[in-house]
Amino acid sequence: MNSFIFSDDNKRYHTWNYYLRHQFNSKVYKVALNAGFTCPNRDGSKGIGGCTFCNDVGSGNFTQPSSMDLLHQYEQGKQVMEKKWPNSKTIPYFQSYTNTYGSLARIKECFQPFLELDEVVAIAIGTRADCLEQEKLDFLNECANKKEIWIEVGLQSRYDLTAKKINRGHNFDEFEDCIKRIKKTNCKVCVHIINGLPDETKEMMIETAKVCNDLNVDAVKIHMLHITKNTQLARSFEAFPFHVLTLDEYVDIVCEQLQVLNPSIIIQRLTGDAIKEELITPTWTLKKTIVLNEIDKKMAREHLTQGMNSSWKI
Ligand code: SF4
Repeated sequence: MNSFIFSDDNKRYHTWNYYLRHQFNSKVYKVALNAGFTCPNRDGSKGIGGCTFCNDVGSGNFTQPSSMDLLHQYEQGKQVMEKKWPNSKTIPYFQSYTNTYGSLARIKECFQPFLELDEVVAIAIGTRADCLEQEKLDFLNECANKKEIWIEVGLQSRYDLTAKKINRGHNFDEFEDCIKRIKKTNCKVCVHIINGLPDETKEMMIETAKVCNDLNVDAVKIHMLHITKNTQLARSFEAFPFHVLTLDEYVDIVCEQLQVLNPSIIIQRLTGDAIKEELITPTWTLKKTIVLNEIDKKMAREHLTQGMNSSWKI
């Protein structure tokens, strides 16, 4: 039995809230930002059209327009959150598109102001495995002397065939190389994976989770595949429908993934956020509380815990 089961979070897996509360001794929330970067998988330098599931805001559905000054975006986001959690700490989250896809000077200009804010305990930066040149990583490593730096990297699937099907634009070897380079720094790494990608089996999704153990990542975000309007995925789904996971299937797969994940890996998310008006399927993902409750209920009913089927121990 691991130490998280009877934690103050009362969950059977290592939650992000639990980590934040213990690390910073405070409520901490993320403020999503849009720095106006683009993505090499959209502008032709790596690929055209982007990942098939990506919408035209670069998976940054809840950010402000990039034309708004970053500190202004941050203050606006903070004002909303402060009503709920006054006097909390924050993590500015560079979410939309690929936030290291630009010159080093531009990257410095975006991130440096947030290193100076007292309430900021960490900065989270969403990027791609093929967009983190050494000079940028060195800069982020310097930033890690002042604040925790979380680099969020999409894997989605460990299978190159799936990566091709979703037009990911990089392969697993590039991902592995990127994570190994991050792990040589003081930055922390969070890996994003997606369940329910076209033609993937449950076993494949579990193997993708196991990669996070092998690479000793600090955190994962697990999402269900969303098929949303005006995406390449929506068009191909209409022409060639594939099986979309049911809620029960998703819960079953997530519970198995949690069992194989090293208990020291923080679970930042087990659901994604979709905009109701844009989501085609599966609509059960809109009920996030139900999804999380079903995972908790199954874990408790079957006495499952994170890492119970992993050779890793904390
Ligand atoms: S890497 Fe991210 S921003 Fe770029 S196309 Fe894929 S999901 Fe969209």
